[in-house]
Amino acid sequence: MELKRIGVVGAGTMGNGISQALSVAGFEVVMTDVGAAQLERGIATISGSLDRLIKKEKMTAAEKSAAMGRIRTAAELGAIRDCDLVIEAATENLELKQKIFRQMDEIARKEAVIASNTSSISITRLAALTRRPDQVIGMHFFNPVAVMALVELIRGLQTSDATYAAVEALAKKLRKTPVQVRNSPGFVVNRLLCPMINEAIFALAEGLASAAQIDEAMKLGANHPIGPLALCDLIGLDVELAVMQVLYEGFKDPKYRPAPLLVDMVEAGYLGRKAKRGFFAY
Ligand code: NAD
Repeated sequence: MELKRIGVVGAGTMGNGISQALSVAGFEVVMTDVGAAQLERGIATISGSLDRLIKKEKMTAAEKSAAMGRIRTAAELGAIRDCDLVIEAATENLELKQKIFRQMDEIARKEAVIASNTSSISITRLAALTRRPDQVIGMHFFNPVAVMALVELIRGLQTSDATYAAVEALAKKLRKTPVQVRNSPGFVVNRLLCPMINEAIFALAEGLASAAQIDEAMKLGANHPIGPLALCDLIGLDVELAVMQVLYEGFKDPKYRPAPLLVDMVEAGYLGRKAKRGFFAY
């Protein structure tokens, strides 16, 4: 099973990043969203990102124009009809994704593989909505897609070996390193990273050390490129809280309870860099 024609549903941060990675690797892509404005924004983001590669002499103007030429846009889902693989990267909302999964299953060829880039929704659950649960898989890319080398490939309970193999081969063609993960809350990266950040917030609230000292300790003592609290500011405190809630709900284990200080800061609107205030001031 070779996946050649690829559909991407959603032209936001991840959808346009995934579309860019696919087109640069030589794939024909059709990128869909709900309206022309979202699609135009997505295309403008890809164009700007390729312009930066040209400036750094990592791409030529001709390569950019060829890559842009491989991306078609459509404001309706019907455009995924001929695709071998559809990657859903729409807004993280269960009801919305359930609706999109049913629609994709209606529209896409019966041989087509359907993937989701969801960070927190069960792949097993999404697969069960379709008539092809064995052809459903998670492809969890990381932001920014062009820079981050990892893609977590999430196997739902129903995912077949053939589906996994086809998507793994595609990930390699994108020069990403795939890691095979069983469907479970937070997959691997968020499962390990977010509790570490949460623990740093507990430590801060306890007065174990200052925010700057906690970050300094983890940079120098654990060789992390960025401290956990600065990283939380970068990710967004609301996103960190949402992941902790997914882990807490998913495992019903108190070790995943969100730090009360995290909840308090989110309620105050101190969401990190995007709010110019989090554990540090920006
Ligand atoms: P985003 O808000 O930037 O983009 C979502 C896009 O989906 C929007 O353009 C929206 O108009 C579109 N959309 C909504 N309903 C749609 C529909 N019915 N059909 C087509 N498009 C529709 O969000 P994002 O950050 O790109 O996140 C997308 C997915 O990727 C989510 O599932 C998220 O959990 C996951 N994810 C995000 C990150 C990240 O760092 N941002 C990382 C990994 C995975």
